[in-house]
Amino acid sequence: MNAEAGTRLALALQDDGVAALEIVGGDRWDDASLQLSCGVGEGPVIARTSGAILQGVRIPIIASGRLLSPTGAEETLRNTNATAVAMGRALIADPSWVAKARAGVEEEIVPCIGCLGCHSAMDGGTIGCVVNGDEVHVSGLHVQQTAHPLNIAVLGAGLPGLEFARVASSRGHDVTVIPGTMPLGGVTGLRSSVPGNAEFGRAFLYFGDRLREFGSGLGETIPDDCDLVVDARPLPGPKLSWAVGRSVLTASSVLGRDLHQMYGIGRRVAICGPGSLAGEVALFLAGWGRRPTVVVPGTSDNPFPDSHPMHALRLVERLAGYKCDLVTDATPEEWNETLDRKHRLTVRRGDGTTAVLGPFQTAVEATGWSEPQVTGPTETVVNGTRTIVLGDSQSFDTVRKLVHWANQLARTV
Ligand code: SF4
Repeated sequence: MNAEAGTRLALALQDDGVAALEIVGGDRWDDASLQLSCGVGEGPVIARTSGAILQGVRIPIIASGRLLSPTGAEETLRNTNATAVAMGRALIADPSWVAKARAGVEEEIVPCIGCLGCHSAMDGGTIGCVVNGDEVHVSGLHVQQTAHPLNIAVLGAGLPGLEFARVASSRGHDVTVIPGTMPLGGVTGLRSSVPGNAEFGRAFLYFGDRLREFGSGLGETIPDDCDLVVDARPLPGPKLSWAVGRSVLTASSVLGRDLHQMYGIGRRVAICGPGSLAGEVALFLAGWGRRPTVVVPGTSDNPFPDSHPMHALRLVERLAGYKCDLVTDATPEEWNETLDRKHRLTVRRGDGTTAVLGPFQTAVEATGWSEPQVTGPTETVVNGTRTIVLGDSQSFDTVRKLVHWANQLARTV
């Protein structure tokens, strides 16, 4: 519905005696231009039209959709004809949003990064957020200070590791985060390099502020007197028989801007993977002026089945905007390198036939990482130190579960 039709409908409802209207916009799964998730900035649809819609409507108007901060909420009220604002995901990310806004501590609000990880939980699971491991019903309860402070090393700086570090350090444990080779934010940090995903960074800076506040530090190696190691690094992905050769890169080396790997990357790049990571790597490389071809086993109707439908749709539209080629229904079988850098990729189609694609100068294997157990953290002893393996993931549904476990674990160690 456009603004004019919306105004006509609102006036008709007003004439019919409706007491108030909530204007919700932005969660259209079938039209990327009407979505309000990560990468579209802040503010509800009504704010994007500068209050031009709903002129003549006198009943109270409640504006909602991608409102994140108290500042954004106040601007909406100031600059539009809305009389109130409402929020959904911002309150899932931080149920104490209103109390923190009232207390003037906006910087302590857990940010919603628009990942839609909570949407999959709405299909029957427990509501939760990938940035906040507190269960909604226990949020606001203070964590108990520990009577026995431990020296804890957290390997990996992904969202699960950062959440563990936040809660454990708030209880008085001495926590050192050791990022290793991954960037701040872990797998999500890598994905934040992709055009449109920069808002993921809000989560990392939120955690950075909390960890500084609680006295956690960064380190490079596990301290000698460490009592507990929490391994929150992503698990290595499977070895793929086709992905062999000097011209084959990994998704993490590309998104992590590995100098040695990126230096020789050619103009035409084949990016192969089972899901949205392949599309995201393609977007990243297209932004850098390369010409990617995305090769996925998904169908033309649903090329990225691992992604939320809204994100999948937006990914397809962005790939088209960057003129990336999308080859669906294809699984790579062989990468043939040639001396003149006119490499070819043999793929198997869903009907059993094969096809040869190319020429390419570079291939990227975008299978990603192995999925960690989703039944809870596992505990072992490594080099005499108690070690709990948590993991990290490229699936926001899994990250949400890991972050929740990290929170629960940190409350009990
Ligand atoms: S899961 Fe993602 S979209 Fe949902 S509230 Fe948390 S940060 Fe926001």
